[in-house]
Parts: sequence; structure tokens; C-alpha cells
Amino acid sequence: MQEAKRLRSLPPYLFARIEKKIEEKKAQGVDIISLGIGDPDRPTPEHIIDKLVEQAHNPENHRYPTSVGMLEYRRAVADWYKKRFNVDLDPAEEIVTLIGSKEGIGHISFCYVDPGDINLVPDPGYPVYGIGTLLAGGEPYYMPLKEENGFLPDLDAIPEEVADRAKIMFINYPNNPTGALADVDFFNKVVAFAKKHDIIVCHDAAYSEIAFDGYQPPSFLEAEGAKDVGIEFNSLSKPFNMTGWRIGWAAGNRKVIEALGRIKSNLDSGVFQAIQYAGIAGLTGPQDAVKEMQQVYKERRDAVINGLNSMGWQLEPPKATFYVWAPVPKGYTSSEFAELVLEKAGVIITPGIGYGENGEGYFRIALTVEKERIEEALQRMKDAIGKVEF
Ligand SMILES: *Cc1c(COP(=O)(O)O)cnc(C)c1O
Repeated sequence: MQEAKRLRSLPPYLFARIEKKIEEKKAQGVDIISLGIGDPDRPTPEHIIDKLVEQAHNPENHRYPTSVGMLEYRRAVADWYKKRFNVDLDPAEEIVTLIGSKEGIGHISFCYVDPGDINLVPDPGYPVYGIGTLLAGGEPYYMPLKEENGFLPDLDAIPEEVADRAKIMFINYPNNPTGALADVDFFNKVVAFAKKHDIIVCHDAAYSEIAFDGYQPPSFLEAEGAKDVGIEFNSLSKPFNMTGWRIGWAAGNRKVIEALGRIKSNLDSGVFQAIQYAGIAGLTGPQDAVKEMQQVYKERRDAVINGLNSMGWQLEPPKATFYVWAPVPKGYTSSEFAELVLEKAGVIITPGIGYGENGEGYFRIALTVEKERIEEALQRMKDAIGKVEF
């Protein structure tokens, strides 16, 4: 049962060691607080669930959906883009429904990457960009995201011959794991770079609605000429607490959208229509739940920042995403520090190395547990570790 090269090419699972430790601790009866995985903890808003229940009773929805999604759902996405970003999209040809944006991010490389081709992949970053590249037989070229550059890739540092061989550039702002932001000016530079080197830009906007302090993240499609070179992924997962429902979309360049739809029509049969109706309810319905969640995450964020800063960190509160990205104290690798925090405080944080080589030296805290538990976690860390130095 020799596995295919493409499966064997995947990097080893970096959290295996820490997961073993977690199991051991749990077996000992330790009360573990996990600030590890970024998965919204609150329920999906009631009106979205009601729509699913209503539509689940309709036998028309029990049949195969179309793989690119109902036109009505894609219209709701187009209307949302117009309202939220003042971006015009043709729902029939510039939007495709996805089984969560992860599905599209994983499949896009199958549309454009031949063995030996390069994709430009952010490091640290959401692992699926590189994994999709490898599964398609391509080679990820990792663009380091450095703190001194505001965790934006330095486009000028990408060697000419690499850029000329590259098929896709993945970017993601507001950024997981760093919480960094990009403005339209940066997106304009990406468009120019992509035009020069004939690269398809795939912007992952999963956190466009998780923002605070009055900040409104822009869409990549607001950049001049963005639709000539790329697409944007987004999803209902994060703004509407719907990670389990599996519904998202890609929007932008019609050729790229058509190619992604063609791959999908050969591999899957789209999203259960009742879920698409629920998605429409989310996008077109009242948005108070989104505002409430922003307030909830903001309070949790402040609890983490205050807690860490009282121990010696000097962090600015991130303006978007539900993550805090912080440097590891002197004398530890990110894995060693995560193990120490688990061992001494029973708190799970994610070592930055799990997101790529350039994540070393940092750790990530997810704000997806209640504030009381976050406060308890930070107090435990303070009691166990005390003041830190860098
Ligand atoms: C959560 C997340 C996604 C995937 O969300 P879906 O549930 O698949 O829509 C995509 N990108 C990033 C950076 C994420 O954190």
C-alpha cells in the first residue's frame, strides 16, 4: 500500500507532539483551557437556523444541487459585495459557491498548477495554500511575512525567475495568524506585480468581517484591475459562526471562476440547497449578530492584551481577526514555550512554527473561548511564569 508521492509530499503534522501532551494532561484530570484552535464558540444566529429548518422540509432541496451553486445565493453574494465594498460582480459568471472557502483554496491549484510550477505562499500562513500547491504537484515558494514589513510580503524580494515561473500568489488580509492588515494601496501593488509576471492572485478574505475599533477591512476586488488578475475567497464561517455548515464562495475574474467551477463539477456536487438558503438569510438578513460578535471578540482581545502586557509584553491590540500573535520570551523556541505554558498553566497556545518557518519566535492565541476562561488562562500563565523578557 505505497502511498502516492503527492500524499507523501505533505509536511509532517507539527502539532502531533503537543496533542500527545494534551491527551496526557486530560488523562490526569487537568482542566485544560484551549486557546489553540480558531473556531467560533457561539451558536449560529437563530434566523439562519430557522431558514435551514424551513428549507430542509422542501423536497426540491433534497436533490443534487448545481456544483457552482444557486443563482439566488450568488446574487446575495453580489449584493453583499456591492453594499459592503461598492464592488460590482456578475452573479452568473463572477461568483462560484464553495463548500467552505477551504475547499476552493485547496482546489484552485488543480486548475492552474502543473508539476514543477511554483505558487507564491505566505509564511507564516494558513496551511491550505501550500498543501493545495503540493497536492497539485507544484512547489510552494514561501514569501516571508516579517514584522518589520507589517507582515506583508516584500514583493521586491521575490526573485525575478521565481515570479516568472509562478502561477498563483496567495495572500490573506486581515491575516491569520498574525492579525496584520492590508490596505487597497498594497492590493494595487499586488495587481501590478501580478500583471507584470502573469500571476493569478488568490486573496483569502475569511476575516473581512471580524474587525474592531471602527476598522473596516477592504476587499482585494476594490483594487484597480483586481478582476483582471484574480479572485477573492470568503465564507460565512467566521462572521456568522457557521464553520460546521460548510458554505463560502470565490468571486472575481470570470475565467478563474469558470475554471474552479469546472474542477468542482467533476469532483463534488455543490452545497445542500437548504444551506445555501440559510446562507442567503445570513448575507441579506439583519447584521446585528455580526456586530455583537465583534464586540465579544474585542472584549476577549483586550483581556488577552492586558494580561500579556502585565507580564512584560508590549503588544498593540490587533484591529482584526480573532487572534493575538505575540513574540515568544527569550530562551524558548515557539514549541518549547507552548509546552511550558501547557505544562505549568494547563493552557493551550499555538506555536508559530506550525504556520511556517517564519512563524518561529511567535505564538498565537485564539479568542474563541468565553472571556472568563480567557482571564483565567492569563491569570494561570501569570502565576506560573511571572514576568518575561525578550
Ligand atoms: C477559517 C479560515 C478559512 C476557511 O474557512 P471555511 O470554513 O473553509 O470557509 C480560510 N482561510 C483562513 C485564513 C481561515 O482562517
